[in-house]
Amino acid sequence: MDKKNIDWSNLGFGYICTDKRYVANYKDGAWDEGMLTSDANVVINESAGVLQYAQTCFEGMKAYTTEDGHIVTFRPDLNARRMADTAKRLEMAPFPEERFVEAVKQVVAANAAYVPPYGSGATLYIRPYMFGSNPVIAVKPADEFQFRVFATPVGPYFKGGAKPITIKVCDYDRAAPRGTGHVKAGLNYAMSLHAIMTAHREGYDENMYLDAATRTKVEETGGANFLFVTKDHKVVTPKSDTILPSITRRS
Ligand SMILES: *Cc1c(COP(=O)(O)O)cnc(C)c1O
Repeated sequence: MDKKNIDWSNLGFGYICTDKRYVANYKDGAWDEGMLTSDANVVINESAGVLQYAQTCFEGMKAYTTEDGHIVTFRPDLNARRMADTAKRLEMAPFPEERFVEAVKQVVAANAAYVPPYGSGATLYIRPYMFGSNPVIAVKPADEFQFRVFATPVGPYFKGGAKPITIKVCDYDRAAPRGTGHVKAGLNYAMSLHAIMTAHREGYDENMYLDAATRTKVEETGGANFLFVTKDHKVVTPKSDTILPSITRRS
């Protein structure tokens, strides 16, 4: 299979439209059979639950080319489970976990020409997500949902790759006790945009969020958990119900 003509080692972390994405719809209490499509646009009603009350959640993982030329993803079954947990917290219909993994495989296979070659430093980022798609106007859950998976080739998340970054102890809080910090809900990231832009304007790469109740303990960054290594070489991670349970961390 021929790879696309892309300058793999100079890719940023941005969106590039690839050939195929997966879409499934939930209606009348059931998911349809789903399919791959070439259409990158979503058409929904002006009063869709996602547009009015941000009823949306997502996942993120990567596909890599191995040294011997295979394409692999990292523990997509755990992303499937986490997305189902998130959906329940947001009163959305969970997408069946085995079907989630199958959809990821289909999207990666259909876009194999976009999976960066081994050693390029780039990866294929996979973005599963779902949203309330039918009109709501009272504050209540949608009863129709769309689940989609697209993929886009990306370079490292932080410019410069595995170089040290500067982190600001954030003046804003990310997640309240008994709130939604432990799930990948779109709303957690909408409210983080002002905090991250403020940090960038002050010259920092990322924010360190503290626990909102006491502001005395480290929680996580806007998009990644912390893993500390002590002087005697022990790995220590913050334990909190308001941290997003990272698959990288538990691995
Ligand atoms: C997605 C995310 C993580 C990392 O999760 P991984 O499973 O390791 O990719 C950590 N924290 C936040 C806030 C996230 O959104």
